[in-house]
Amino acid sequence: AKVRAAASSAGASYDIDLPTLEGHIVTRFPPEPSGYLHIGHAKAALLNDYFAHVRPGGRLLCRFDDTNPSKESMEFQDAIIKDLELMDIVPDATSYSSDYFQQMYELAVQLIKEGKAFADDSELGKGDQERKNRLPSKRRNLGIEETLARFEEMTTGSIEGQRWCIRARIAYDSPNGTLRDPVIYRCNLTPHHRTGTSWKVYPTYDFCAPILDSIEGVTLALRTNEYRDRNAQYEWFQDALGLRKVPIYDFSRMNFVRTLLSKRKLTQIVEEGKVWGWDDPRMPTIRGILRRGMTVAALREFVLKQGPSRNTLNLEWNAFWAFNKKYIDPVAPRHTAILQEDAVYCTVHGVDNLEELTKPKYIKKPELGTKKVLVGKTIVLEQVDAQSFTANEEITLMNWGNAFVRQITKDTDGKRIAALDLEFRQGGDVKKTKKITWLAAVDGNLVNVDLVSFDYLISKDKLEKTDEVGDFLTPVTEFRKQAFADINVKDLEHSAIVQFERKGYFRLDAAFQKDQPRMVFFDIPTR
Ligand code: ATP
Ligand code: MG
Ligand code: MG
Repeated sequence: AKVRAAASSAGASYDIDLPTLEGHIVTRFPPEPSGYLHIGHAKAALLNDYFAHVRPGGRLLCRFDDTNPSKESMEFQDAIIKDLELMDIVPDATSYSSDYFQQMYELAVQLIKEGKAFADDSELGKGDQERKNRLPSKRRNLGIEETLARFEEMTTGSIEGQRWCIRARIAYDSPNGTLRDPVIYRCNLTPHHRTGTSWKVYPTYDFCAPILDSIEGVTLALRTNEYRDRNAQYEWFQDALGLRKVPIYDFSRMNFVRTLLSKRKLTQIVEEGKVWGWDDPRMPTIRGILRRGMTVAALREFVLKQGPSRNTLNLEWNAFWAFNKKYIDPVAPRHTAILQEDAVYCTVHGVDNLEELTKPKYIKKPELGTKKVLVGKTIVLEQVDAQSFTANEEITLMNWGNAFVRQITKDTDGKRIAALDLEFRQGGDVKKTKKITWLAAVDGNLVNVDLVSFDYLISKDKLEKTDEVGDFLTPVTEFRKQAFADINVKDLEHSAIVQFERKGYFRLDAAFQKDQPRMVFFDIPTR
């Protein structure tokens, strides 16, 4: 069945094959609170949100998959709630796998009593080998009473209990590895961030997902297709427990070149101080990407446009940023920045002293309002521009007017331009002239700013699972330049997106403050 509907923010439509069209759709996004959300999670979250609300009456559930206390924390749980908010995703309900620990425990006991699960103490070591070779575990025939006793022992967290796990008795010799008697319960003594030390045994994700999807009324379980082999297992659990069957729809993972999308590895670079934190603009986290200057609307459109595809791609970032440019260009006010180390001071003849003009913030979008342009006898422009001038050339000082280049003064070794004399010309023709960015060099008009651009953290296109992150970190990824910006930038609010003319788009990361010496802008990639 095809579903076609308008995406909320982008206003675009997407053709997506769905396994069911009956009634309303209930989906769930099941993050594990073991890290901040990244761009891969954004795909899962946005697709779930999209399907849930594609027709009236649908619901998006956010269910924290908090079944492994060793990796999880309250900090991450809170972070994920906030990350969803940042993407304008409002779940219709939020729940926790840990809310169902008692119920899942009882269902495990039920499986055992029906002869569908057994206790095993070979899983941790030899079990994997047996599974690979499609051999039964030597405990496979352990009886119901003995299995129940072992499970009981496990719940105490004793040394003996910790040696055991519970496995579903499905098919040790199945061609599908996920059916070879998967583990459903394990011991863990680490206190849980929500349930503390109440539990010493925890269900695995494999056991949890089919149960909770069914119990919570999910009508469409979206999963990434690396789980496709697990679909048969998912159905087996629902059958074995007599639960309502939930249809599955799978989509591909979203990966990007030179980008880590493993929470374990991201945690590692945060903990080792390789980045400023989870919201570092070089991080592929939702916070990092937004801090770099991505807009939510563009993120949504990008994900939904390529989302339904089932090929696992290693995407290039440039397509992603090109989407963003469509959104930011029409609304970004235009400002001026002159690199400080390249500033050339010029005297402009034929003008009165300081004057203040009023110009549109973006000539094509008068609705964005106006800005002040200070003009005067002394201005700064950039070395590259100065070097391109020939004597008596007519140039255009953007937002002001034309001028002739009358005198070019080189520095002592003759390599750089030390000063220029310009002669202002009223009403010159701007069609054939170079357009030059400049600023009046008067107190207050030259605002100190840092322009920061970034490189990829990872130096290899596709990191393999076995690659050590430390071996593939780009040595230098932050490039900071000092510049003068026009006086209007002082009024910009934190997170504002602007264009510095002839330089590109930037997002304001540190707004003007009286006692702060410099404002900070991050370069927003556009390709
Ligand atoms: P990691 O491997 O980094 O720990 P995970 O997949 O285990 O990630 P979860 O918190 O369990 O992290 O993921 C929540 C949801 O996001 C899952 O449905 C998962 O399939 C999906 N997801 C995670 N990474 C991606 C990705 N790169 N592309 C698409 N969906 C993803
Ligand atoms: Mg997971
Ligand atoms: Mg994972």
